Amino acid sequence: SSKSTLIRLSATPRSTQGHIVLVTGAVGFVGAHASVALKRRGDGVVGLDNYNPYYDVGLKTSRKTQLLDRAGVFVVKGDINDDVLLRELFDLVRFTHVLHLAAQAGVRYAMIDPSSYIKSNIDGFVNVLEAAKNAVVPPAIVWASSSSVYGLNSKVPFSEQDRTDHPVSLYAATKKAGEAIAHAYNHIHGLSITGLRFFTVYGPWGRPDMAYFFFTKDILNRKQISIFEGENHGTIARDFTYIDDVVKGCLSAIDTAKKSTGNGRNGRKKKGEAQFRIINLGNTSPVSVHKLVRLLEKLLKVKAKKKMVLMPRNGDVPFTHADISLARMELGYKPRVDLETGLRKFVKWYLDYYDVKKKSSW
Ligand code: NAD
Repeated sequence: SSKSTLIRLSATPRSTQGHIVLVTGAVGFVGAHASVALKRRGDGVVGLDNYNPYYDVGLKTSRKTQLLDRAGVFVVKGDINDDVLLRELFDLVRFTHVLHLAAQAGVRYAMIDPSSYIKSNIDGFVNVLEAAKNAVVPPAIVWASSSSVYGLNSKVPFSEQDRTDHPVSLYAATKKAGEAIAHAYNHIHGLSITGLRFFTVYGPWGRPDMAYFFFTKDILNRKQISIFEGENHGTIARDFTYIDDVVKGCLSAIDTAKKSTGNGRNGRKKKGEAQFRIINLGNTSPVSVHKLVRLLEKLLKVKAKKKMVLMPRNGDVPFTHADISLARMELGYKPRVDLETGLRKFVKWYLDYYDVKKKSSW
């Protein structure tokens, strides 16, 4: 069919070294940027996404035409829980890697729809791992875990060796479970797996449920913003990491991934141990929410109306701070974009995308 031709075309690498990558969550924030970056450097890319309506789907559909179509990434509309679809995709294309980014994201939404986290982040992840292990030649897996697995960790910076057995949100619990499940698949089925713990990724085409995004919207609309304070009036801080830095980390995780050693359906086991890695991808430079708001005020040229609120127990953690020495060693990772530079790019995109200058007196 024409659809399978498009999938094949999109999966054909331009360079001989080119990887062939299945990107799940490809119309999401990180997924769209990563798919375009992979395609631009000559890898074959097939996207998979169910266009989940968790946030404004317009951001995904317009993203698709503006970013993905232009780059030539074909996205299959479908759910990671659809095992028939996954099997068809793996039969059609010999993926060398899976960049698994599809998930139910966000911490607070779990209060409203807890089962969506189990469905996408646990059941869906297992389904992706099953499809990968059953492929004729099993691909290496790179997937997104999260800094939220560190919970209320107070040892800073957060190192991969720190305790992660005290998640404080269902989202974090599903990411932690994902790490355990991935380890089991690595051990039993010889899948090569890299779990990347992302730290508060921000930038153009970002997620509207994240603070920097809705603060921008509310500040521009002269609406009051609530700034949470931790218990004992502790300051909330995040290790904001710019999207381009995270994408570079993902690409280099793909480049440094070892081959899976599992049998797959070709029945031949490869030599050696399959690789299992869990790596922080952060900026290692946490910024308080007060500083975030000051930067936005400066960039938007509007004073924010602030209200201090004691942080409810909604799953948010008071602060995050990544130790990135392992990422530096394993991936040659070096974050390059500081928060002010990254926010300037975000704000520029925001004003343009929402046509703010034309719509308001701004
Ligand atoms: P996003 O919501 O923009 O992207 C996720 C994409 O996955 C969406 O386009 C959604 O439609 C798709 N999706 C969800 N469930 C699916 C399913 N069952 N089948 C097929 N597609 C499905 O989120 P993002 O910020 O781009 O996050 C990407 C990954 O990184 C996620 O795994 C997220 O948990 C993780 N992560 C993100 C951050 C961050 O700050 N953005 C931090 C830590 C971890």
